[in-house]
Amino acid sequence: MRWDNLAENDPVPPGAGRAAALFDADAVVTRTVDTPEFRGVTFHEVRARSIVNRVPGVSRMPFEWTVNPYRGCTHACVYCFARKTHSYLDLDTGLGFDSQIVVKVNAPELLRRHLASGRWQGAHIAMGTNVDCYQRAEGRYRLMPGIIEALRDHANPFSILTKGTLILRDLELLQQASEVTHVGISVSVGFLDDALWRTVEPGTPAPERRLDVVRTLTDHGIGCGVLMAPVIPFLGDHPDQLRATVRAIAASGATSVTPLVLHLRPGAREWFMAWLAEHHPHLVRRYERLYAEGAYAPKWYQRRITRQVHDLATEFGIGPAHRGAARRIPQRVEPEPVGPTQLTLL
Ligand code: SF4
Repeated sequence: MRWDNLAENDPVPPGAGRAAALFDADAVVTRTVDTPEFRGVTFHEVRARSIVNRVPGVSRMPFEWTVNPYRGCTHACVYCFARKTHSYLDLDTGLGFDSQIVVKVNAPELLRRHLASGRWQGAHIAMGTNVDCYQRAEGRYRLMPGIIEALRDHANPFSILTKGTLILRDLELLQQASEVTHVGISVSVGFLDDALWRTVEPGTPAPERRLDVVRTLTDHGIGCGVLMAPVIPFLGDHPDQLRATVRAIAASGATSVTPLVLHLRPGAREWFMAWLAEHHPHLVRRYERLYAEGAYAPKWYQRRITRQVHDLATEFGIGPAHRGAARRIPQRVEPEPVGPTQLTLL
């Protein structure tokens, strides 16, 4: 493993200005935990040199600063765009990403020190933007309580994006933080389909459990949006599927819904296409055409999904103007029967 090849900005490709190593090689402890919950998972406990990362200017991300206490993710989503970052450590971007987890064990103390420094201006910090900070490892290492406490104590605005129900463990801390600063929580739910979930997001809580998180947070006064991501072409994009998903999101009390079509960057693309060939071989050719230009689906496709989801959000009353009305939609929503996709152009 190459700890000297790991720099601050997680999404930056090798050679693009990544100079400073993040970890001291002699501060790495590797543990293989043989409990049923973590069978086959190896944790690399490291003492990081820094924890607040600046997002590169070329990034399309709508935030400038991030904190990522983990690398790798046992949620194991086949499409995960962060897979590529494991290659910077000479770790495998497939199963290695799912099972070789880097844990920055000193993240809370580093963050507290950073927030107290005179140079820090109190900018918004985004978490869960590279890998999930409420993945299962967090149940063992409990880094997020210390991180939220530091942010609360400095009244520093922050946001969290997660698929993990574990976030509810820290509900009280999130409430305390939201009393002194802006706290934005988003939960990622791209679809409801049970069979699709079990194969493409095998380590995550079920979509319905994630919507329970949205419901609990909003019931406790913490507004929570849903990142409807990814919308998976030909498998999760049928109008009936979009409708069932947005309807369930509305019933959860989400304050917003933001659709995002699957993108396949290097590292994720190879892994996803191998999965597709195994589970849906008839779709391989269509995917090759849809993603022929690169990591993103064509603009016309993205616009169509966005328009459909926005129309459904309006219909089901998601958003500040409709708060309360959406919750009157029955909460148990059975997925509607789904026919073949209507995307016949490909
Ligand atoms: S939960 Fe997020 S970070 Fe984890 S594997 Fe899935 S997409 Fe990647």
